[in-house]
Amino acid sequence: MDFRRGSLYTLRNEAVKNRGKRGPVMPSFEEARRTILESVPMLGAERVDLLSALGRVATEDVAAPWDMPFYDNSAMDGFAVRAADCRTGGILRVTGYVPAGETGVSSLTPGCAVRIMTGAVIPSGCDTVIPIEDTEERADGILLREKVDPRQHVRFRGEDVRSGDTVVSARAVIGPPEINMLASFGKAVVPVYRKARVAILSTGDELIELGEQPVTGKIINSNALSLAAAIREIGAEPVILGIARDSRESHREKMAEGLKADVLITSAGVSAGDLDLVRDCLAEIGVRQLFWKVDIKPGGPTAFGMKEGKPVFSLPGNPVSTMITFEELVRPALLRMMGHRRVIKPYVRAVLRSEVRKKPGKMHFLRVRIEVENGVHWATSAGDQNTGILSTMVRANGIAALPKEKTVFSAGEEVPVHLLRGDVGMTEE
Ligand code: AMP
Ligand code: MG
Repeated sequence: MDFRRGSLYTLRNEAVKNRGKRGPVMPSFEEARRTILESVPMLGAERVDLLSALGRVATEDVAAPWDMPFYDNSAMDGFAVRAADCRTGGILRVTGYVPAGETGVSSLTPGCAVRIMTGAVIPSGCDTVIPIEDTEERADGILLREKVDPRQHVRFRGEDVRSGDTVVSARAVIGPPEINMLASFGKAVVPVYRKARVAILSTGDELIELGEQPVTGKIINSNALSLAAAIREIGAEPVILGIARDSRESHREKMAEGLKADVLITSAGVSAGDLDLVRDCLAEIGVRQLFWKVDIKPGGPTAFGMKEGKPVFSLPGNPVSTMITFEELVRPALLRMMGHRRVIKPYVRAVLRSEVRKKPGKMHFLRVRIEVENGVHWATSAGDQNTGILSTMVRANGIAALPKEKTVFSAGEEVPVHLLRGDVGMTEE
């Protein structure tokens, strides 16, 4: 099935027709991700101070307002000279001194040299710098011990960047080098894509908030915190809405509040056995469902819809499912909204240390532990793969994507893995 824009209508209708049933409309992981990425809007621009632009995406080209370097300057401590005056073994009289930071431009007395420091303005009439170590101090001047190449050790005006050149392109991700470049050109504010404000709604009468006394029958709303953390990690802004109780009124009220943000994420209440409050209430407040259920495990019951250009993700409540579906389906969407072009993580090929088996029919996200030895990524199961086991997720630093129909993955076989942490393969010491 084609999940491009034109076919969303069909997909939606079929999804509606198949509600509550195990219908044929179960997009594959790739189809679900494509539907999401084709539906989400790009956010607008805002101007932020330079340091706040770190990790964000430029909305427009930034042009250099002047040449860089702005003036010819010395790359060495030594002597500024005119190359034509130099010959090996010759002596030049030293007639001046230019320290770094001196703002005036001095000039060369013909046939002489000017002592100069790194970064200082080249005196007019000079085209070359002789490093101090290539000279010898003599009573009547400096002796040139080495051959002098014309123009050596001078950083000429505009040799790095010409006025008007684009120094940071639209859609570039701003990191320390871009910040250095922008700062060098006096750019104190930068136009970047807005941060996505992402509302997080937890649902279910079994939930209590962090800080409340745990009792049998209740669990702490930990998903709100881990979603907020994952949202913050990619530079977006979480808005924790709290808990919708198991009533339509409570759901609708909180959902309406959530739709004031740029994105709404709900957790729990979308599984097959659920009362379906989440999807029903979203439909009631006008969220158009684009799919429900993806043929992945964990995360199968995930639903996705749109209302007036705002994406709504309904993730299953199991903490492991919530985190994996966020990582695989929500994260790319938020990155795209915030202007990123590269939104899909590459897979690394990891070699299985031991055999893994699964049932056919769904793509499995296996929580794995990755170790890098001599450049080879080795994958071991991070532990019990039951969706209810959170500790396996804590141990994991990667998610292996095991294709749908294959059931046996032998030791020594390569599997595609999404790395979850930036320190994979780093050494301790
Ligand atoms: P559900 O997706 O509603 O079937 O929920 C699956 C499991 O996730 C249940 O065992 C819930 O207790 C648990 N769960 C639901 N919401 C949360 C939450 N906000 N934080 C942590 N666990 C949750
Ligand atoms: Mg539930």
